[in-house]
Amino acid sequence: MSLIHESAAELGRLMAAGEVSAVEVAQAHLDRIAEVEPKVHAFLHVDPEAVLVQARAVDERRAAGEELGPLAGVPIAHKDVFTTVDMPTTAGSKILEGWRPPYDATVTRRLREAGLVILGKTNLDEFAMGSSTENSAYGPTHNPWDLSRIPGGSSGGASASVAAYQAPLSTGTDTGGSIRQPAAVTGIVGMKPTYGGSSRYGLIAFASSLDTPGPFARTVLDAALLHEAFSGHDPMDSTSIAKPVPPVVEAARQADVAGLRVGVVKEFGGEGYQPGVLARFREAVDLLESLGAKVVEVSCPSFEYALPAYYLIAPSECSSNLARFDAMRYGLRVGDDGTRSAEEVMALTRAAGFGPEVKRRIMLGTYALSSGYYDAYYGSAQKVRTLIARDFDAAFHQVDVLVSPTTPTTAFPIGERADDPMAMYLADLCTIPSNLAGNAAISVPCGLADEDGLPVGLQIMAPVLGDDRCYRVGAAVEKAFESRWGGPLLKEAPAL
Ligand code: GLN
Repeated sequence: MSLIHESAAELGRLMAAGEVSAVEVAQAHLDRIAEVEPKVHAFLHVDPEAVLVQARAVDERRAAGEELGPLAGVPIAHKDVFTTVDMPTTAGSKILEGWRPPYDATVTRRLREAGLVILGKTNLDEFAMGSSTENSAYGPTHNPWDLSRIPGGSSGGASASVAAYQAPLSTGTDTGGSIRQPAAVTGIVGMKPTYGGSSRYGLIAFASSLDTPGPFARTVLDAALLHEAFSGHDPMDSTSIAKPVPPVVEAARQADVAGLRVGVVKEFGGEGYQPGVLARFREAVDLLESLGAKVVEVSCPSFEYALPAYYLIAPSECSSNLARFDAMRYGLRVGDDGTRSAEEVMALTRAAGFGPEVKRRIMLGTYALSSGYYDAYYGSAQKVRTLIARDFDAAFHQVDVLVSPTTPTTAFPIGERADDPMAMYLADLCTIPSNLAGNAAISVPCGLADEDGLPVGLQIMAPVLGDDRCYRVGAAVEKAFESRWGGPLLKEAPAL
């Protein structure tokens, strides 16, 4: 097996045993990037020399006898919404073009401390707003299963890079589904940790009460190793939880569901879902039962209102967060020729620097927060948010985890929903409740839809700080399916 096909855990082991160097591992992935990147466009920035410098440093630390973690020397693709002092950070927007952040995000810093080798920055929907990566100001990313289809979003570069074997691991952020949905449609694993379980410091803010960094990988254990490497309390983030990281790696190794109570969310899976998605989902539920789980149906009646509530709360927070891009402090500045006022320069810069979806969100959010409408829109949405959290609480009194399809359809063709925001928003129907309630949720592959042969994701939701349950169930499902499929679902990137 070539180095690019190994798991992160195995690469870590090979390097620790001295069988291969971090430089060799990095070079193999750089070669793969050079080979397939013209077709995939997963990255916004790759500097091969800088990658090799990082890898050499890991080899030197090891040669000097330093005790290194399990992912030391493993390459990773980093979503371009985390600040990096030594690389550009654009958030997929023209408004940040040319900006160099003065500090590293906590997630970035922890990757470096764990000895991960950052291959580059991955493409995303502008400011993480979207479900297809088509909203990137730098062009769309293509799905490695079928290059004419979307890789999901907003972390589409992150999902595509792992599915294309350009990297064994990548980082993402999930505000409404941006890790789980791209993972589902590219046939890989993606985890949204409990809100506050991973630090937002240095993550360019979209909706601060929802934004959550998390891992992508091709195996559940790899995702857990990465989760553990960058999560945990951070005094620089006021919403960071001051508790230990749940035992996610141990849970991924445990991989059993005997006696576990699994709830199937009744509200997810009716009309509007692709038949092939529902068929694979039902098989996964049967599989869980055959592995010894107790499966029951659970009703979460407020989940129906999650999508509309999200599209009030997220744009409201976005309109406030994005006010900082005022043409004075970051990146782009348009029309500053000495004849215009600061307000005019700001208006010209924002008009030129933001794309249409970002403008739509800012307008929606500004409207929802405006005096006279605040209670009717933002206030009501916050009430719905409470009801959703209560639905989860009630459900988790009955069951240990909840399951649903991750997304109603498989990867759709590039362009199909680009002019239909409502259709685009529906991609996150099943993922949004866990963002509003802040609980943990993962997507793991559960097969290919019959109609189009494209990957389907199983979503496993656990209570706040029950992240380990997601990994335990996810790993059990992965193990059982792998013996059925004769190996992992994604053995090769089919379109490359
Ligand atoms: N697709 C959703 C949106 O456009 C979620 C995005 C995200 O999780 N960052 O808002």
